[in-house]
Amino acid sequence: MSDPKSESIESVLAENRSFHPPKSFAEAARIGTRETYERMWSQSIDDPERFWGRIACELPWLEPFDEVLDWSDAPVAKWFGGGKINASHVCLDQHLETERADKVALIFEGEPMGDGGPEIRTFTYAELHGEVCRFANVLKARGIGKGDRVAIYMPMIPEAAMAMLACARIGAIHSVVFGGFSATSLEDRILDGGCKAVITADGGWRRGTVLPLKPAVDEAIAKCEATEGGSPVETVLCVQRCGNEVDWTEGRDFWLHDELMEVSDECEPEPMDSEDVLFLLYTSGSTGKPKGIVHTTGGYMVGAYLSTRFVFDLQEDDVYWCTADIGWITGHTYIVYGPLANGATMVMYEGAPNAPHEGRFWEICERHKVSVFYTAPTAIRAFMKWGDEHVERYDLSSLRLLGTVGEPINPAAWIWYRDKVGGGRCPIVDTWWQTETGGIMITPLPGVSATKPGSATQPFFGVDAAIVDENGRELPDGQGGLLAIRKPWPSMLRGIWGDEARFRETYWSKWEHAGKPHFYFPGDGARKDPEGNFWIMGRVDDVLNVSGHRLSTMEIESALVSHPSVVEAAVVPRPDDLTGEAIVAFVIPTGSVEDVQAIVEELRDHVATEIGKLARPAEIRITTRLPKTRSGKIMRRLLRAIAAGDDVTQDTTTLEDPTILDELRAGGPA
Ligand code: ATP
Ligand code: MG
Repeated sequence: MSDPKSESIESVLAENRSFHPPKSFAEAARIGTRETYERMWSQSIDDPERFWGRIACELPWLEPFDEVLDWSDAPVAKWFGGGKINASHVCLDQHLETERADKVALIFEGEPMGDGGPEIRTFTYAELHGEVCRFANVLKARGIGKGDRVAIYMPMIPEAAMAMLACARIGAIHSVVFGGFSATSLEDRILDGGCKAVITADGGWRRGTVLPLKPAVDEAIAKCEATEGGSPVETVLCVQRCGNEVDWTEGRDFWLHDELMEVSDECEPEPMDSEDVLFLLYTSGSTGKPKGIVHTTGGYMVGAYLSTRFVFDLQEDDVYWCTADIGWITGHTYIVYGPLANGATMVMYEGAPNAPHEGRFWEICERHKVSVFYTAPTAIRAFMKWGDEHVERYDLSSLRLLGTVGEPINPAAWIWYRDKVGGGRCPIVDTWWQTETGGIMITPLPGVSATKPGSATQPFFGVDAAIVDENGRELPDGQGGLLAIRKPWPSMLRGIWGDEARFRETYWSKWEHAGKPHFYFPGDGARKDPEGNFWIMGRVDDVLNVSGHRLSTMEIESALVSHPSVVEAAVVPRPDDLTGEAIVAFVIPTGSVEDVQAIVEELRDHVATEIGKLARPAEIRITTRLPKTRSGKIMRRLLRAIAAGDDVTQDTTTLEDPTILDELRAGGPA
């Protein structure tokens, strides 16, 4: 039964480079010595309640909590029971009594490049507070109150963050739906959450054109109306962003700017129970139908506050830019709640990274003197493809720390990021976490960790992560297995909206048979090296089994991408009579390919040399694009069907570009 081979995932990534934080960085860092780190770490693991209780006291509670953790109803945790807190009060009001009142909270840059440069709007903490209070009063005036769900379907403009904070202020539960989603995706999420209102905009700027949003809202609501239960939406609040023509339903639709004229800029924050729901957010849908993840107030805010502070080493004069969209968890925790809870200055950019040119991100970094920059591997790979010259054109000397999140980052992209963007001097924090975890779980601490390309290094404070087998037993170092979190943490999910069975099944049933019902299962495979660094090997669903060897797709992809003629690669299994599964790779070449057969052979040999014959792909298909979620993650489940020659029957609503399936099926550009 317990053939260790079938239980563990073989790790083939040979990556030994290691980078220590520069001395000057460590000296100025919030946590800059091993001793401090180790002291805090052992406190957080030996006595988590004491640790988290102390950290929580750094936030402004409206009423103090009387119990740090109640795990008696596991797997649903209660953190900071008895306490009352309001997330918008934490993000805004607490700073008004201090010098931060006039500090810039938000620097917004619009996408269009006018003659005089782009539109830039800045808000101090005092100004942002006023805007949020007025927004909150508009919601109240429209009959929205505590516990009501509000869908937010917006471009990346300041009003998106204000909408979230306004909901939080009055105790309404926001459910942000990424602005790139279709009417159908929006409809699903409105119905699933029973949203009473939708906050949207006429449109947003994307690659030089107006991407209309309001029509999708109209369509989504019409579709909701056609369902048996009808539409739960009573109000649509619309921000005027682009001035495009929109249809209007009297009595339901309201322009935000009209409504704002009617209200005051004072609004007391609603005292929320620590365990009151702050928001719902649907996962990316990389593996299946998105799940409406439930996050509550107190624990989430404590996690967001602490992780932002230490992972990004936030200093008072930092200019922090997280390029995520507000529609993803990264946008929630590391654009809105975490940075604002810490009183940071942050940048928000409306548009595409290549509008109007491929150097736009770097231009923004230069213009606003960004010092901390957080992005995703998919973006980094795109920058690499576009060429170094776009980065080299700008002065990036203000940067001091870089971060990445969303997928495993292949070492080649990591090194490029470090050299080209970070000028070789900026530590990189590769942060592993999920919508469900609410905040960063495995990550370097930039002032102390020796970073390694491709490794998220070590668990964050209070995170009891381990590599275990199917029975929840810890595996020896070096052996790939399942990632497990063995203790609750404050910002953990409290459920899947309306689907408790799926919540228990997805996250808590993996080791139930082994008597470990309270081990959290994130669904990712990983291994740990002898120094205690974690290497995330990708989703367990994506593991291949070739002749009894369980291999990580991510590692084979890394080998492919390390070849100069490959920009991006996705690897999936195809059923094979002989080997059980055979490896199929979809590869995007750097330039145009003249001799397909030659390059395919070269790449197969390259993988064999890098990893071993076992990993040599049985088939390599050259393509121009890969199917990705709207958040830029490769959807391997679709490629699996294509590689096997099956029809794609899975949920494709989160797919960025549905036409890509035809191209891939045809085996080349359409
Ligand atoms: P779904 O759960 O609907 O399939 P998803 O897992 O893509 O979608 P998210 O919560 O956005 O939804 O993503 C979390 C996942 O992203 C993690 O479980 C992991 O697989 C991957 N991930 C995130 N950050 C990293 C990282 N730094 N290194 C490796 N993988 C990462
Ligand atoms: Mg997931």
